[in-house]
Amino acid sequence: MDMNAYQQAALRTAAPKEKKNELFHLLLGLVGETGEIAEKAKKIVRDHDSDFAQWDLEDLTKELGDALWYLAVIADHFDVSLEDVAQRNIAKLADRQQRAVLGGSGDNR
Ligand SMILES: [Mg+2]
Repeated sequence: MDMNAYQQAALRTAAPKEKKNELFHLLLGLVGETGEIAEKAKKIVRDHDSDFAQWDLEDLTKELGDALWYLAVIADHFDVSLEDVAQRNIAKLADRQQRAVLGGSGDNR
């Protein structure tokens, strides 16, 4: 699926941008969904000796999708397309790779 098509589809189930506290709702939702992923990873570490082959891929895919929905809607909140988010991210990482600075720290390295 095209990323902008996904974003437009996601927006069909989003609240209006103008709704009071909507950005807070979206940001907390994104943190919640990534927390759900981390919680399930924790249980694999705790109960399955960190054997991530034990991860239920259908469940993981659903949770990643939940996080993606929030990312898409948050980007739209600022009139940024999901395609632009993806392209800029890949360009940033390719630039870092070319300059051999993928490792290390700092947002603008
Ligand atoms: Mg979820």
